[in-house]
Amino acid sequence: MEIRKNINFYQAETSRYRASLIAVSKTHSIEKIMEAYEAGQRIFGENKVQELTGKYEVLPKDIQWHMIGHLQTNKVKFIVPFVALIHAVDSEKLLAEIDKQAGKAGRIIPCLLQVHIAEEETKFGFNDEELLDVLQKKSGAYTHVKISGLMAMATFTENQEQIRREFKHVKNLFEKVKRMNLPLEMKELSIGMSADYKIALEEGSTMVRIGSALFGGRASQVSVN
Ligand SMILES: *Cc1c(COP(=O)(O)O)cnc(C)c1O
Repeated sequence: MEIRKNINFYQAETSRYRASLIAVSKTHSIEKIMEAYEAGQRIFGENKVQELTGKYEVLPKDIQWHMIGHLQTNKVKFIVPFVALIHAVDSEKLLAEIDKQAGKAGRIIPCLLQVHIAEEETKFGFNDEELLDVLQKKSGAYTHVKISGLMAMATFTENQEQIRREFKHVKNLFEKVKRMNLPLEMKELSIGMSADYKIALEEGSTMVRIGSALFGGRASQVSVN
């Protein structure tokens, strides 16, 4: 795996669309992350709290760490001191807990609300109605959470048209929320992974989350302790 070459390639791809590259380093070693860091990558994404905090502790402090996975309320306190963006917020309860813990830590934490766009039943996230409802009720309610955009995952399928349709759907929703004049700034649309990043960029992604295309396949969790 030539991590440097991959970072250069995907940074060029995303910058053509003025989007950012989130290097998804879950399960990958400190050495591999340092290779990406030395190639100039500064934003990394992890999906497990323990792995995220472990890596934060040992890696350079100018890395921006993004939590991209499902987050349990009882673990929020472990990441609020340092996390730069939380991508997959999927309940009011979680928003309230982030607000509370961020208040204690004296921080304001940017968060993205996860929208359920896939046809699969298993994925987390708000449906359209729930999203609009929570935004209408809560967008001005928090002092330590800054709702900054939306995040979504397309169906895991080879069907490119279906993926494109799902991304178009969330992009429309994103534009609709912008027009609602709520007290928040819809800036980021986090869509696109290794297999579908190109479609996501074409459909308006501002952040792609790329793992295996940068670091190779994931065998099993690595321990960082
Ligand atoms: C693992 C993961 C990714 C990256 O997936 P790849 O297919 O390896 O690029 C992106 N987003 C989330 C939420 C993930 O959990």
